[in-house]
Amino acid sequence: MRVLIIGGGVAGTVAALAAQQAGFEARLFEAYDESAGLNHGVFLTVAVNGIDALRAVDAHHVVLDAGFPSGHIQFHSGSGKHLGAIPLGPALDDGSATHTIRRADLYRGLYELVTARGIPIEHGRRLVRAESVPGGGVRAHFADGTSAEGDVLIGADGVHSATRAAIDPANPGPRYAGLGNTGGFTRKANLDAKPGDYVMVWGRDCFFGYTIAPDGEVWWFANPPAHREPSRAELRDLTPAALQERLVELLAVDRSPAAQIVRDSAADLGLTNQYDLPNVPTWHAGGMVVIGDAAHAVSPSSGQGASLAAEDAVVLAQCLRDLPTVPAALARYESLRRERVERVVKWGAGMNNTKKQGLVGRVLRDLALPLILSRADDAREMAKMSWMFNHHIDWNRTVEPADAA
Ligand SMILES: Cc1cc2nc3c(=O)[nH]c(=O)nc-3n(C[C@H](O)[C@H](O)[C@H](O)COP(=O)(O)OP(=O)(O)OC[C@H]3O[C@@H](n4cnc5c(N)ncnc54)[C@H](O)[C@@H]3O)c2cc1C
Repeated sequence: MRVLIIGGGVAGTVAALAAQQAGFEARLFEAYDESAGLNHGVFLTVAVNGIDALRAVDAHHVVLDAGFPSGHIQFHSGSGKHLGAIPLGPALDDGSATHTIRRADLYRGLYELVTARGIPIEHGRRLVRAESVPGGGVRAHFADGTSAEGDVLIGADGVHSATRAAIDPANPGPRYAGLGNTGGFTRKANLDAKPGDYVMVWGRDCFFGYTIAPDGEVWWFANPPAHREPSRAELRDLTPAALQERLVELLAVDRSPAAQIVRDSAADLGLTNQYDLPNVPTWHAGGMVVIGDAAHAVSPSSGQGASLAAEDAVVLAQCLRDLPTVPAALARYESLRRERVERVVKWGAGMNNTKKQGLVGRVLRDLALPLILSRADDAREMAKMSWMFNHHIDWNRTVEPADAA
């Protein structure tokens, strides 16, 4: 089977590895000269369920080698009060925990693996249009005027997916979350926090989080709220120095090291908008299908986007391997994935809402959270979040048709 994969992020690279492992001929097309992930974003967590999915294609070592374990999130109010802590998932059977990794290290590691396994990656190939071919198969058209044919086209082309629109022009686009994303690194800060844990601060005007890497470097992110969605031009024109100044202003009102951490960081910050994609009605048509952010972008607050992308990619390859026809495989993939991913998107959107409260919401939040979090112990939280973290993919298990499952 010839599998065309559009997009070289986590979903696309893992789909390529999984398709090859299933015995298919995979080709990977990426719009940019190199993965967008090498230049955008700062760092992310890969949760234990994501590490488990990567293990199915023997790619987990990318995360375990270049990342570091992240144990708990410690929550603080803007007034400096410690509100409580929640664990970032259980350990896997081999002891692996949820990890934090620089985005560039994750994308580069996956790229190197794809290349080492002999799967061609074609850069500078931006999908503009795709269609089913009469009699079976798919054809992809690229911005450079070229095209490619295959039996299946996997759209792993991110939250602004062109494949999603090719599958059904009525499919919705992403929903702006009312928040921005930025982050950076500093070695200057001297903080009293357990390395690997996240410290997250519900500041008065801006949510802020940081973690200390094993070598002492502080990795941080902030979510400045903005009710109106900044345009691409506005984001582009915002200078790093102006962004840094604005952040310091937003964070200085809180009793936390946040403003100082931002001041101490190199002024090379960038701002992106935060989106999610709660419900895409049509995931597949003919031989075309979407996975990862293209199908169901989750808010970064969930810490699950990369993990779900990896899960999707592996489950889809299993379905294509085990079901008799492409349409049957794509339908089975959707039935195995939709409920789970939409539940995570909803959970992530709830987390986001706590980050952009007005005065009344803030007061209620600051009253409720200490009560909720003071009751949170590891065992209770692990049980509550088990549906998300305890998700195992057994590569060798045969996927049965829906009615036999
Ligand atoms: C600031 C921020 C922090 C985050 N933190 C976390 C976190 O801690 N944990 C977590 O799990 N997730 C996090 N996420 C979400 C996570 O990054 C995404 O869910 C994940 O990267 C999705 O992977 P993907 O491969 O589906 O999409 P992407 O990583 O967006 O990859 C899509 C790829 O497709 C390419 N592409 C796009 N259009 C085309 C086209 N037309 N033709 C060819 N190629 C195309 C792009 O260039 C890109 O390389 C965060 C996201 C952001 C923005």
